[in-house]
Amino acid sequence: MNRSNFINQLESKEEFDICIIGGGATGLGTALDAASRGFKTILFEQHDFAKGTSSRSTKLVHGGVRYLQQGNIKLVMEALRERGLLLKNAPHLVHNQKFVVPNYKWWEKTFYGIGLKIYDKMAGKLGLGPSQFLSKEETLQLAPTLDPEDLKGGVLYHDGQFDDARLAISIAQTAAQHGAAMLNYFPVSGLLKMDKKVCGVWVKDFFTGKDYEVKSKVVINATGVFTDSIMKMDDAKHESIICISQGIHLVVDKDFLPGDTAIMIPRTDDGRVLFAVPWHNKIVLGTTDTPVKSQDFTSLLEPIPQQEEIEFILTHIGRYLSKNPQLSDVRSMFAGLRPLVKGKTKKTAALSRDHLISIGNSGLITITGGKWTTYRKMAENVVDIAMKTFDLPDKPCITKQLRLSGHDNPVTPAEVISLSEPELKEILKKSMQEEMCMTVEDFLSRRTRQLLLNASEAIKAAPLVAKLMAAEMNKEEKWIREQIDTFNSIAKNYLPT
Ligand SMILES: Cc1cc2nc3c(=O)[nH]c(=O)nc-3n(C[C@H](O)[C@H](O)[C@H](O)COP(=O)(O)OP(=O)(O)OC[C@H]3O[C@@H](n4cnc5c(N)ncnc54)[C@H](O)[C@@H]3O)c2cc1C
Repeated sequence: MNRSNFINQLESKEEFDICIIGGGATGLGTALDAASRGFKTILFEQHDFAKGTSSRSTKLVHGGVRYLQQGNIKLVMEALRERGLLLKNAPHLVHNQKFVVPNYKWWEKTFYGIGLKIYDKMAGKLGLGPSQFLSKEETLQLAPTLDPEDLKGGVLYHDGQFDDARLAISIAQTAAQHGAAMLNYFPVSGLLKMDKKVCGVWVKDFFTGKDYEVKSKVVINATGVFTDSIMKMDDAKHESIICISQGIHLVVDKDFLPGDTAIMIPRTDDGRVLFAVPWHNKIVLGTTDTPVKSQDFTSLLEPIPQQEEIEFILTHIGRYLSKNPQLSDVRSMFAGLRPLVKGKTKKTAALSRDHLISIGNSGLITITGGKWTTYRKMAENVVDIAMKTFDLPDKPCITKQLRLSGHDNPVTPAEVISLSEPELKEILKKSMQEEMCMTVEDFLSRRTRQLLLNASEAIKAAPLVAKLMAAEMNKEEKWIREQIDTFNSIAKNYLPT
C-alpha cells in the first residue's frame, strides 16, 4: 500500500463508485468486498486503520456462546460459518483455539456440555473439532492453574483466535491489491451534496492539512461509535441512534495460564461470559460491559479502563485460578467501545439483532454493530444493498473464497523487545513501505502489538523506534521528540495504576 499513489488518485478528481468512511473491520471489509467485485473504491480513515474498536477486541473469531445462551440461533449459525471461512482465508492470523469451561457445580457439565454439542452441530462442515466432556484430572491437565478445590470436571470446545489489528492491515492490503485506494489519517469533514443527495465527501490530509473534494456514486458510513457524527453531517437534526458500552481487557504473563488452552467462565455476577485467552505468549483477560457517557473525540479513540472494571476482572478471574493475578501483575490494559443501536432509523434496509444497515433520505448508507467475526458477511450485505439502491451494475461477491494478503509470507512479530536493531529496522521499513505505518504509535500498537502486550516495554522501545523511523522518513529531532511525547501520553493509560 502506497499512500502517495492513493493521494494521486484524489488529485485526478475522478468519480468513485463507492466511498467508505471508517477504516475499522466494517469499513475495511466493505472496501475489500466492493473492490474485489470490480467497483472503483476509496476508503478514508481519520486516524490509523483499526485505531478504534477493531484493534481492541477480545481477539476471538467465534460463533458466540453467549448468543447461544440467549437462543439467537441464526446469529450463531452465521458467525460460525464466517469463523470457518476466516480460518481458511487468513490462516496466517487466525487459528483454532481450545477452550475449557471449568465446572464447579454438579449440573454444569451436562448443561454446558449439551450446549456446546449443539454449538458443534451448528458449525457443520466448518467445525473446528468436537467438544468433549472432561474429568477433573483432564481439565487440570489442560488448564493446570485452575483452582482444584470443588472442581468437578470441565467441557472442552473449539473456537477461533486472531490478531485483530494485523487482520485489519491484511484486509486493507488485499483491498488495495484489488484496486481500492485506502487512506489512513484522512478524516472526512463533510458530505458533498447535489439536489439534497449525497454525491461524495470532503476530506483533509491530517499531515499536510490539504482539503480534497471527492465524488462518489455511493457513500457508506462505517464509523462505529462515531456513526452519529457522520449522520449529523448528513442531517443537522439527526437524533443520536448510538449509545456506547465499554469493554476492557487486562494482559498478564503466561504463568497465570500456562499451556495453549483458554478458559471460558460462562457466567459472571453481571451475567456475562469472561475469558482468559493465550495471545502472543501472554494471557488476555476480559471483558466488561460498562455504559459510557463521555463522547468527546479523544476518549472515543483512546478509551481508558475504569477502576471498577479492573477490579471486576481481577476479582472474577481470581475465583477460578489457584494464583490470583494482582494489579501489579498486569502488563497492559486496553479498552474498546461497542456501538449499541438504541433507536429505530426511518428507513431500515436490513436489520438484525447483530448489525444494522440504514439508508438516509440523502442516500447516505450507514452500517453499524455486528462483530469482527462477521465483518465479511456485513460487507457483502451492505455492498449488495448499495448495488440495488444506486445505479451500479450487478456484480457478484467473491470474498467467501478470497485468500487475504500475507497468508504465504512470514508474520510480523507481535513484540519488538527481543529484536536486534537491524531486525527492528527491517520490520519497521516493511511496515512503513507496505503497511502505511505513519507514527510510532501505529508501529508499537497495531503493526506490532507491543503496547497491548507490555506497555512499559513499549515505552522503553519508543525512542529507538522514533529514531529509526525518522531516519527512514528524513524527519528531524523535533519530530522524534513529538512522536515520543505523543506515544508516552497514550501508553501511560495502558499501565495499571
Ligand atoms: C470490548 C470488545 C471486545 C470485542 N471482542 C470481540 C471478539 O472477540 N470477537 C469479535 O468477533 N468481535 C468482538 N468485538 C466486536 C468488534 O470488535 C467490533 O464489532 C468491530 O471491531 C467494529 O468495527 P467497526 O469498523 O464497525 O468500528 P471501528 O473499529 O470503531 O471503526 C470505525 C472507524 O471509523 C473511523 N472514523 C470515525 N469518524 C471518521 C471520520 N469522520 N472520517 C474518517 N474515519 C472516521 C474511526 O477512527 C474508526 O477507526 C468486541 C468489541 C468490544 C467493544
